[in-house]
Amino acid sequence: MDHNRKTLLQVPVDGYQIADFMSKIEESFSNPRVATIFAINPEKIMRALRDPELLSALKEADFLIPDGIGTTVGIWLIHGERIARTTGVDLMGRLLDLAEKKEYNVFLFGSAPEVIDRASTKIVRAHPALHLVGIQHGYLQKNKHEALIKKINELNTDLLFVGLGSPKQEKWIQRYKKVLQVKMCMAIGGSLDVLAGRNPRAPISYQYLGLEWLYRLISQPQRFKRQLVLPKFIFEILREKLLS
Ligand code: UDP
Repeated sequence: MDHNRKTLLQVPVDGYQIADFMSKIEESFSNPRVATIFAINPEKIMRALRDPELLSALKEADFLIPDGIGTTVGIWLIHGERIARTTGVDLMGRLLDLAEKKEYNVFLFGSAPEVIDRASTKIVRAHPALHLVGIQHGYLQKNKHEALIKKINELNTDLLFVGLGSPKQEKWIQRYKKVLQVKMCMAIGGSLDVLAGRNPRAPISYQYLGLEWLYRLISQPQRFKRQLVLPKFIFEILREKLLS
């Protein structure tokens, strides 16, 4: 597969528009193995630098979407190339449209029980012909995961969405992708919370200005600690730039 793959502080990122991601993902469905899709943001990059298991899961992924302004600005600073942002929620929406059109079987895994119930109701309302074959909340006991994989396979799932937060979801997918008989597996973080209306998305004006992080900071101040990683990320980018 031809790839416009760049590296940002050791972490690969694919520089495509959302439409190109969609056609490449569709092409990959004819491969016998599972196509894996992860979103890359500064927080995940900084974590991967001190978590070799996460870094290797990211390096082995088929599609790494540039989620968030920090990623695209980082690519621009290091490689001098402007790439478009593709958020996980947007790509998931497109994949659900595709699944509805092509009658693919979809399974949703992750988030709190009430969140996945609400999100799946909303998804089915928006995609009435969707084959949503199963849902499972993300607080399953450890010893039930093998049975879950069996169920996902028996239901002939084509598209599996996993929202366990990072790095749990990436490690889960990395661990089970060899036994999953699905066409595609995407890590969706807190997208089900967004779809359920629990953590609404930033208004369009914030999205347009690339300030979704600021909106999240204002609306969920408890995430403040997580965003302290941003200055460190910018520092690392500038250091790499100066040393190159
Ligand atoms: N989550 C889960 N199981 C866990 C831990 C987390 O299902 O053991 C869910 C949590 O309920 C939330 C999502 O994972 O829906 C994580 O959301 P967050 O916004 O932290 O993820 P991000 O998008 O930042 O990766």
